[in-house]
This record gives sequence, C-alpha cells and structure tokens, in this order.
Amino acid sequence: MTDRASELTENLHKVETRIASACASAGRNRDEVTLIVVTKTYPASDVRLLSELGVRHVAENRDQDAAPKAAACADLSLTWHFVGQLQTNKVRSVVGYADVVQSVDRIKLVSALSAAAVRAEREVGTLIQVALDADSGARGERGGVAPDGIEELATAVAGAPGLRLDGLMTVAPLAGPYANREQAAFERLLELSSLLRADHPAANMVSAGMSADLEAAVAAGATHVRVGTAVLGVRPRLG
Ligand SMILES: *Cc1c(COP(=O)(O)O)cnc(C)c1O
Repeated sequence: MTDRASELTENLHKVETRIASACASAGRNRDEVTLIVVTKTYPASDVRLLSELGVRHVAENRDQDAAPKAAACADLSLTWHFVGQLQTNKVRSVVGYADVVQSVDRIKLVSALSAAAVRAEREVGTLIQVALDADSGARGERGGVAPDGIEELATAVAGAPGLRLDGLMTVAPLAGPYANREQAAFERLLELSSLLRADHPAANMVSAGMSADLEAAVAAGATHVRVGTAVLGVRPRLG
C-alpha cells in the first residue's frame, strides 16, 4: 500500500468510527447516515483510492476542478454531489457528471438546471440549500435560501422536468442566531425538512455536518454528512 493509501485508510477508519459512535449515541442505525467525502482540491488519484476503499459518494464545489476529475473517474460508478455555489453558465457542465446538486438556492438556477438536465437526458437529484443566517427572502453569504423561501423553490423543483426533489442541505452558519450552535442549527434544518416532507414525502435527504460538526448533524437526524478535511487532510488552499 502506498503512503497515501494507508493515510486515507486510517482517516476513513477514524471518520467511520466517529459516525458509528454518533449513531449509537443517537439511537440510530449506522445505515441511516451516508458518508459523502468532499474531494475538492484533491486529485483524481485520491478519488480512485477512496473508491478502492469503499467510498461510494464524493462531492466537489467548483466545476472547473470537478469536471475533469469526474471524467477521469468515470469508470468508478461513484455518485457525484455538487455542493458549491453554482452560476447558471456552469450548469450544463455540472449536469454532465453530477448525480445530485445540493446547492439549489434560487428559481433561476432551477430553470437552468432543468433545461440542462432535459437536454442531457438525465435526471438530476436536487437539494435546496438553506441559509439559516439569511433574512426573509434573502440568500446567505455562502449561498442558500432563507427558510421562508424553501416552499417556493420546492414547488419549482418538483414541477421541473429532469429534476428530482431530494431534500435539504445546510452549512452551519458562522454568524447570526445559530453561530457556534451547530446542534441547534441542524435541529432547525430537521424541522424544516419535516415541513417539506409534508408536501413532498420523497424529499427525505438531509445533508448537514462536516469534519468539525458531523456528530451534531447525526444527533439532529441528518441522513448525509459531507466530510473533507478529516478524510483527505487540511486543504492546501481555500476550497
Ligand atoms: C468543503 C465543504 C465541506 C467539507 O468540509 P470539511 O470541513 O473539510 O469537512 C462540506 N460541505 C461543503 C458545502 C463544503 O464546501
């Protein structure tokens, strides 16, 4: 085994142990939580190693990096998640490889994704990204729609050809009422998810929690955690 392979093996094992013990503490089954490894800034060779180690879900946040990486790993049958802020001019490219776009936060993006998915003859899963620190109607600094904008977006996605409404995503806010209160933030996301599921029962994905706060997300009921640093190491640059 190469050094990198043993490093990734060890890190994955640690993350797996954290997820399993968070599930046990919360009285949840381990299979209720899916690990998505965020491979941004790391090379396709790492994605390949992760795949050999049993990882099935990977995430990227910049189309420029993700498109060639996904192409280089097309033989691995991984599920690719797009988790970054998305400009409409990148949508055609993203739809070419992303199975799930987790960062849907405005109507214009819904129409663009739908048109691209239809054109590519693909069905793209979508999560609505919620900004728990955004005011009514506004979007957060790091993307995401304010909670009172979820319903309108959900209706748009549900009616959009080529798109499938899968659920909600959030990043724990650094500012506002939920700053330093990850657990409360994620519990709020779960409440919003149950409101969403009243109208859209199949939209049951809840993507929350990263390297630093995955335990809080699992405790709150997240179905997907997005872990980068704890698996791959500290990123060489901001990604
Ligand atoms: C980078 C990133 C992650 C992973 O963050 P880590 O702290 O490295 O685990 C999760 N979600 C999103 C949206 C990201 O951009």
